[in-house]
Amino acid sequence: MNALNIKGLTKIYKNKILALDKIDLTVKEGDFFGLIGANGAGKTTLIGIITDLVVKTGGEVSIFEKNIETDFNEAKKFIGAVPQEINFNIFEKVIDILIHQAGFYGISKNIAAGRTERYLKQLGLWDKRHTKANSLSGGMKKRLMIARSLIHEPKLLILDEPTAGVDVSLRLEMWDFLKALNKEGRTIILTTHYLEEAEYLCRNIAIINHGKIIENGSTKELLSKSNKQTAIFDLKTPAKVKPLNGYKVDQIDDITIEVEMLKNQTINEVVRLLDKQGIMINSIRNKANRLEELFLSLVNNENEN
Ligand code: ATP
Repeated sequence: MNALNIKGLTKIYKNKILALDKIDLTVKEGDFFGLIGANGAGKTTLIGIITDLVVKTGGEVSIFEKNIETDFNEAKKFIGAVPQEINFNIFEKVIDILIHQAGFYGISKNIAAGRTERYLKQLGLWDKRHTKANSLSGGMKKRLMIARSLIHEPKLLILDEPTAGVDVSLRLEMWDFLKALNKEGRTIILTTHYLEEAEYLCRNIAIINHGKIIENGSTKELLSKSNKQTAIFDLKTPAKVKPLNGYKVDQIDDITIEVEMLKNQTINEVVRLLDKQGIMINSIRNKANRLEELFLSLVNNENEN
C-alpha cells in the first residue's frame, strides 16, 4: 500500500510565487523517504499541505488511500507531524504537552500516560517531564516535538528538518531513534538540508528544485549516478603542483589542492602522480559527500536550462 500518493500538486502563493508545480510523488508503506532541496525549493510547502498547514491550489493528496480533503479526519489520524518551527505552548510542562495532545485524539488517560512515559524516556526527556517547555534547550524542544507527534502512534511520521540546529552527538542519537521507529514498520518522510542525513537514513529520495521534482529514486540508484567526487589533499610541505594527467586540479594554497575525480579515476593514482613530482601528502579527505556532489550538479544543470 502507498503511505502517500500525490498527483498534480500545485501551490501558488498570494505573491504569485509558484511554490509547487504539478508534483507527482508516491511513498510506499514502510519506506524511509527523504525530500531534499535547497532553501525555497518547496519542501516546507509540500509538507505543509500534507499536514494541513497550507492550503493547496490544485492536485490531490491521499494518505494510506484516504484523501486529505474528502476523508480528512481519517487521513489525519495516520499522520504525526514535526514542523520546523516550535508550535507547542512553551509555558506548559513537558508532560502536560503530551497528555493534552493525546486528548485531541481522544486517547484514554491510562493509555496516554503509558505512551507519554515511553516516548519521553526513549527521547531522553523523562527527567524533564515537570519542567516548563520554555526552559528546555533547542535540541530538547525538537525531541519534545517528536515525542508529541508519536502520541497517537501514527503510521506515517513527517519531519521537516528534524536535526536543524541540533548538535552533532544528539543528531546521531536522533538518527538511531528514527531508524528504530522505521524498523518497527512506521513510514517516515523527512526533509533535510544535510545530504549525509538523507544518505544515512533514507531508502528513497526525491530532489525538489523550484517546486519541481527533478530526481526520484532509491538512494543507492541515485548514488550510482554520481560520477565525480572531489578530494582535498593536504601536502606535507609547501609545493606548486604541476598538472596531473587527466585530473582537474585546483591549488587552494601552497599546502592544499583539490582534485576532481571521475568514476574511473582513483585517489591512489593521484597519490602516485603527486609522488612522481616529489610531493608528499599529509592527509586526504572528501570535499563533499557523493550525494552532495550529485545534488549540486543536478540542481546546477536544471538552473542553467
Ligand atoms: P527552506 O529549506 O528554506 O525551508 P523550502 O524548500 O521549505 O525552503 P518553502 O518554504 O516551501 O521552501 O518555499 C517555497 C517558495 O514559496 C519560496 O519561494 C518561498 O519564498 C515561497 N513561500 C513560502 N511560504 C510562503 C508564504 N506564506 N507566502 C508567500 N510565499 C511563500
